[in-house]
Formats: sequence, structure tokens, C-alpha cells
Amino acid sequence: MSARVLVVDDVLPNLKLLERKLTDEYFDVLLALSGTEAIELARREQPDLILLDVMMPEMDGFEACRLLKADPRTLHIPVVMVTALDNAHDRVRGLEAGADDFLVKPVRDIELYARVRSLVRLKTVLDELRSRALTGLELGLTTEPDPERAAPATIALFGEPGGVLDSLAADLDGFGSTISKSLTEAVAHANRLRSLDCDLVMVDLTAQATDGLRLVSRIRSFAETRFLPVLTVVDGTDLGPVVKGFELGASDCVKLPIDSPELQARLRTLIKRKRLADRLRETVHISMQLAVTDSVTGLYNRHYMTSHMTTLVRRARQTDRPLTLAILDIDHFKAVNDRFGHATGDIVLHEVAQRISLNIRGVDLAARYGGEEFVVLMPDTGLETARGIVDRLRCVVERTPFAAADGTPIPVTVSIGLAELTVTDADGHAVLARADRALYRAKGNGRNRIVVCPLHEQAA
Ligand code: GH3
Ligand code: MG
Ligand code: MG
Repeated sequence: MSARVLVVDDVLPNLKLLERKLTDEYFDVLLALSGTEAIELARREQPDLILLDVMMPEMDGFEACRLLKADPRTLHIPVVMVTALDNAHDRVRGLEAGADDFLVKPVRDIELYARVRSLVRLKTVLDELRSRALTGLELGLTTEPDPERAAPATIALFGEPGGVLDSLAADLDGFGSTISKSLTEAVAHANRLRSLDCDLVMVDLTAQATDGLRLVSRIRSFAETRFLPVLTVVDGTDLGPVVKGFELGASDCVKLPIDSPELQARLRTLIKRKRLADRLRETVHISMQLAVTDSVTGLYNRHYMTSHMTTLVRRARQTDRPLTLAILDIDHFKAVNDRFGHATGDIVLHEVAQRISLNIRGVDLAARYGGEEFVVLMPDTGLETARGIVDRLRCVVERTPFAAADGTPIPVTVSIGLAELTVTDADGHAVLARADRALYRAKGNGRNRIVVCPLHEQAA
């Protein structure tokens, strides 16, 4: 995966060294010699990641990081602090300043590449979500996600009895609840995680009894846990598991001996990031829902119905199965509006839609086609079965009168036209047109009835 990396260091040889290493790995590299220059470049060039030296004259790395994270134009760019001192205090300061990660000089190449790739991957996912969520916002469909909604987190721990994770209780106390599990059956645990609603998983890769990497890989392969942050615990002397963990999709790692403030700062960053991604996903989901549903009835809208119809027609042809379509139109609906007002008319529309959706099968799709017209698509269904289904719909509308605000009963009926897909139909619109003609006849024949498009017309 290629990405643009901005490297910031006040010492030119350091810059050049990192530039060469990253260029060799096919990253596209930008350079800055000071914090001020870095901020300027980041705004303009929008790199995928920033490697930021801590010790710089004038503005140090912490300050530069704080400014980058405070600016809406740059706050989404991951920042990795590069520090000369292997000093736990500095790491925590960096993470608190909003850095996403840190590396200690001299930077070990494979760890550098693993962390950079992992953060770039994460950014790609978040960028995509953010742009889809923004589309929803621009359409005025959803409101801005609430930035701070700190709720207690649930952290799942996977290690071995008596292992390193057992001693972390005090560190995790402030986060909410923890679920502790022994790792001996990694695969079974990955399965259990799918139904647990947790915010983060810590996996002890130093556990002897089992294969924590297998758990990491399983977590990434299930849809339910694909986005779950995974923090690995590794023995700092052996880089192998660190790199393998990142390759398999771990979000971050801590090295033994665990430094408590660092662990807590990393956990906070991971949880905050997960919550942001969850909210973005929710926003995208809501705006997609809104784009395909009709606000008065809650049914699918016409646009969605016609695109779904195309899919169903293709599937019916591939599988050589029938597909039947019904159009329902409320009888004399104008009179309901005239007598009880438009608002009551809306309530009747909503209620008719409810009765329709409650009385069709799961495979059927109901949509609002126009003002007081509805379409029901019935896959795998021939005319005779479909007639039974829509007659049930006709009955549930007629049987119980609707109610005006003052309780006055409003009797409502529907007329229905029915047509089946034939081999000669160019597409679904031909079926729609036939159902519409049948509906017209149902109206002409006295309403509150079903007319099936006659067979000779079916084939025509
Ligand atoms: P028919 O039995 O021939 O179908 O008679 P009708 O009165 O139902 O048909 P017509 O097409 O003459 O009138 C449809 C009415 O539906 C007119 C329009 O005001 C009303 N309508 C369409 N959309 C809405 C809506 O969203 N809310 C309300 N309250 N009324 C609507
Ligand atoms: Mg009508
Ligand atoms: Mg009508």
C-alpha cells in the first residue's frame, strides 16, 4: 500500500535517513525541518501520516502535535511521535497531546513499516467513512456526530492463567468493566467475541500455552469483530510477534514490562478512535436508511423499489422462478383529505403502509410508489399465490376502519392490480405497466377489488 508520509525533524541527516528508508519501501515522502513548517505542509498537502520528532527548537513535537490535532483540516491525519529518549514520561505526553503512536530512535525499520502501514490502513477506512458520513450531512439527512460521548468501556483480556494480563486490574479500573478469558482455545474465543459487545481486546502474545496471533487473525475475519481494536502485549526483545501482529490487523501493541501510564494512554486513544468510527458508521447507516425510505409511511421509496425490482427481475430470470408485482391504490382518498384534512390523510397513509408491511412475507418488498399508491414485489411467487397474498392485504385494510383525531371512523378500501413477469418483458417496467392497467380496471369495476392482468395480455 503506497501512502504519503510527512517526516518532521530539525536535524537534516535524520530527515534524509528516514526519507531514504521510507522511499525504499515505496512510500511517497514529504519533509519539514520545523513544527511550523510541518503544520503548514500538512494543511496544504494532506499527507496520510506524520512522523514527528519530539525534540525541536522553538516549537517542540508535543506542541506541533497539539496544534495539528486542534485543527479540523489536519486532525484526522495520524501522528507518530519519534523520540530520542526511551522515556515513558515522554511517550505518555505524546499520546496525551493526541499522537496516535510513537517510535523510539534509533527507529527499527520493520517496526517503523509495520506501524506506519497499520495507521495508514486505519486512516483509509476512517477517511472513507468520513466522506460517506459527510455526504449524508450535506444532504441534510443526519446531524453532526456528537464528538464527546464518553461511556464506560468494556475491555476483553485474553491471556493465560497467571500470565501478564492478570496483573493489570488496577490499570484498567478507570475504563469500565473487563472480561477476562484464558486463551487456550483461541478460535472458540474469537467466536464468543462476536456476540460480546466490547470496545477493545487485549491479547497476550507472550502466553506460552496458545497462539494469540490466531485469535488476532480470527477477530479480523469476522464481520462482527472486524473493526474491534486489538492491543497486543509483546516481549520487547523479540520484534517478530510485534510485526506479525500488525500484519494480521492488530491496532497497537505494548511491550513488557508494561508501563502503566503508557498503557492507559494507548487504551484511551484506541477507545476514542473506535467510538469515532462507530459514530461515523452510524451516521452513514442512518443517511443510507433515510435515502431509501419514504418519510410519511416508513416504506421503501419509489427510487429504491425500482432499483430493487431490476435486481429481482434479473434473479428471477437466472433462476427461472416467477416474480409477481402488485399496485395498490387507496380508493377515493381525495375524499378522506377533503373531509378530515391533509394531516389525517397522512395518518391514514401511514396506517395503510403498516397494515401492508405486517401482512406480507419477509421476502416481499413493499414500497410507496406515489401519493396513495403502493407497490408490493413478490419474488418466487406466481399469480395465484400472489392473489391470495394481496387479497389478505385488501381485507386487512377494509376490515377495520381507520380513526380520525376525534375518533370518527374512516372506512378505507384499496383497489389492486396484479401482473407477473413474462419471458417477453424487456424489464420490470413492463410488469409495472401491466399491473397499472389492471388497477385501472379494478377502479372501473367498482373498486375494493383485485384485477389480475389477463393471460393474453400477460404474454403480449
Ligand atoms: P381513486 O379511487 O380513483 O384512486 O380516487 P382518489 O381520490 O384516491 O384518487 P386521486 O388520484 O383523485 O387523488 C389522490 C389523492 O391523494 C389526492 C392527493 O391530495 C392525495 N395525496 C397524495 N399524496 C398524499 C400525501 O402524501 N398525503 C395526503 N394526505 N394526501 C395525499
Ligand atoms: Mg386513489
Ligand atoms: Mg392514485
